[in-house]
Amino acid sequence: MRPLSEAVSQVQMPDLEKVYNDLENFARAVQGVTGLEILEEWRRKLLGRKSGSLARAMRHLGDMDAELRKTLGQALNRAKPAVEETIALKKAQLEAYKASRPAVDVTMPGRQPALGRVHPITRAAREMIEIFGRLGFEVVEGPEVEDEWHNFVALNIPPEHPARDPLDNYYLDDRLLLRTQTSTVQIRVMENRPPPVRIIAPGRVYRPETVDAGHSNMFHQLEGLWVEQGVTFADLKGVLSMFARAFFGADVRTRFLPSYFPFTEPSAEFYVSCLLCRGKGCPACKGSGWMEVAGCGMVDPNVFEAVGYDAEEVTGFAFGFGIERPAMLKYGINDIRLLFENDLRFLRQF
Ligand SMILES: [Zn+2]
Repeated sequence: MRPLSEAVSQVQMPDLEKVYNDLENFARAVQGVTGLEILEEWRRKLLGRKSGSLARAMRHLGDMDAELRKTLGQALNRAKPAVEETIALKKAQLEAYKASRPAVDVTMPGRQPALGRVHPITRAAREMIEIFGRLGFEVVEGPEVEDEWHNFVALNIPPEHPARDPLDNYYLDDRLLLRTQTSTVQIRVMENRPPPVRIIAPGRVYRPETVDAGHSNMFHQLEGLWVEQGVTFADLKGVLSMFARAFFGADVRTRFLPSYFPFTEPSAEFYVSCLLCRGKGCPACKGSGWMEVAGCGMVDPNVFEAVGYDAEEVTGFAFGFGIERPAMLKYGINDIRLLFENDLRFLRQF
């Protein structure tokens, strides 16, 4: 392109300077071009038949004297194939690069990585464990296949007790069954260490229930036990009330109603004010304004005797929460079966 630039500098005409500038810019930019469309734009700008820079410059030649016309004409005629060749080379380069890679459609929506999340049961259990942890309770786990001693006998449930009916339990053989409660873990801990004991035992339990919106034949419990000198029912009330406020919200109200369990004396049912109607009464709480969330009581001296603790020396309380129930109340789930169907549309909400 040098002959052209020399010719242009001789005539000093603004219209001719444009073609010179365009060619200069093209020479500078061509190596960095990454798309065929941009290359085509350059081709039109420089070589276009009507409005291309070269064609426009050619039209000026008629106004010049013979010698200048000859010099300029030659220069422009040489510039044209040079530009064509440069564009062809660049085009081949771009096409070879494109062919060497798999075609990527950058307009396609990206693939979202499948992120897992914590199951509502696990989430509720973790939160419960965390709250009792703050109150000094240690987490202990035990086997889901239990013997009759830990599941019944040591918990003051004698052979004639209806809870031991084979129809109400998943017996594996004469001696072993799937545990019906996590209180078994309390027995195992007390058998193996002296007081004081302050533990919670979360885990699965099994009962042959007919499955419906409120019942499942497998569910989760979180039991607690505090044994030490001087532990009273007031401590029990304090611990459960504090837990309820931390888990369900500061404005929740609580109450204890007398009840009966073989392994505690006295025993109570622990209620929180209905989270759905705030105590006014609704179908979920059967109009009472209250929901039962736990059973509790002072550990029966017979249980202490079974594990070798001195009932004259120590006292203690025990409590048992289901985990499904509080989770359903807290997250507004109205059917327990949703928790075990593994339907991602349901689980993704948590
Ligand atoms: Zn209610």
